[in-house]
Amino acid sequence: MRYDYLIVGAGLFGAVFASRMKEAGKTCLCIDKREHIAGNIYTEKCNDINVHKYGAHIFHTSDKRAWDYINRYAEFNNYINSPVAFYKDEIYNLPFNMNTFAQMWGVKTPEEAKRKIAEQIAELNITEPANLEEQALSLVGTDVYEKLIKGYTQKQWGRECTELPSFIIRRLPLRFTYDNNYFNDRYQGIPIGGYTAVVERMLEGTEVLTGVSYKDYCEAGMGGNEFGKIIYTGTIDEYYDYCYGRLEYRSLRFETEVMEGVENYQGNAVINYTEADIPYTRVIEHKYFEFGKQKDTVVTREYPATWKPGDEPYYPINDDRNNELYKKYAELAGGEDKIIFGGRLGQYKYYDMDKTIIESLDLADRELGL
Ligand code: UDP
Repeated sequence: MRYDYLIVGAGLFGAVFASRMKEAGKTCLCIDKREHIAGNIYTEKCNDINVHKYGAHIFHTSDKRAWDYINRYAEFNNYINSPVAFYKDEIYNLPFNMNTFAQMWGVKTPEEAKRKIAEQIAELNITEPANLEEQALSLVGTDVYEKLIKGYTQKQWGRECTELPSFIIRRLPLRFTYDNNYFNDRYQGIPIGGYTAVVERMLEGTEVLTGVSYKDYCEAGMGGNEFGKIIYTGTIDEYYDYCYGRLEYRSLRFETEVMEGVENYQGNAVINYTEADIPYTRVIEHKYFEFGKQKDTVVTREYPATWKPGDEPYYPINDDRNNELYKKYAELAGGEDKIIFGGRLGQYKYYDMDKTIIESLDLADRELGL
């Protein structure tokens, strides 16, 4: 059988590409080494609660094209992410906003908060922040940095804040209003019924094989099939047999607990634990992504972990060394005419879901000559 595309990876990037190609009358075969579709946005029902098996995913975007696209496959609820941070015995609202500053310093007005931050950073003399620590300090001052950023970030990334790129902290809003919305985006929510069903709808009409890795598939002679091109959403360094060395990733370990008869464990979907001594970064109570009223609850503790071969890669580590290494792989990829790399792992970028959708739609358009 001849297919126009072999899509390696049934995650969001691959599924969006498949859906566009199907609409355009092209044929795709999608394979995934896991036993299920949906990649890291996979959700699974447990005690009638949709559990985000590979970490919590909250859809948010300001891009109308991404929003309109995903709404063809999903109905969103009106969830707004408002995590709470626990630091020792103190509680703070996130992201950094007037509630946080009032809790931290007892200030009431934006002017007082700004003055407090200015006082704290006056002696630091940071003009051009060179790393995450300097970026964070110059934005929110020493107290917020020490209590809410330093420990969390070091746990999350396994390295000092001085050794991390500043863009990571700029993902979070900083505002001088009493607004606990974690995102600044125009559109936000959780798909009713979970993400797996959304990806399933995107893949409708596309042949999908789960439990089949690219390597095994190649070794088995690609099942006798032929392909026009390959869309590869796995790790790019692995594809090239690590010929220039290994890219680094950050991994996660999840400990999930079903609490029967416990209706309300922590009162919020997301609680961040920002002190360095607690080994997990956040605790997710999944039911609250969908305003659940179930009699039980399911809670997941998220432990950041050093990635080693065989582990699931979750985050690219976009520091200088890795970015340089990635560039070399990207050059190799640029010389290919039959294989295209996409998604967080294929492009080694810290993409959110909306950006993943846009990248995939753009690729499909280019392939279709649009
Ligand atoms: N961060 C922090 N304290 C928090 C939450 C986040 O210092 O309580 C920092 C941390 O460096 C993290 C970054 O902000 O890696 C981005 O956080 P986000 O919630 O966007 O991370 P993700 O959900 O993608 O893991």
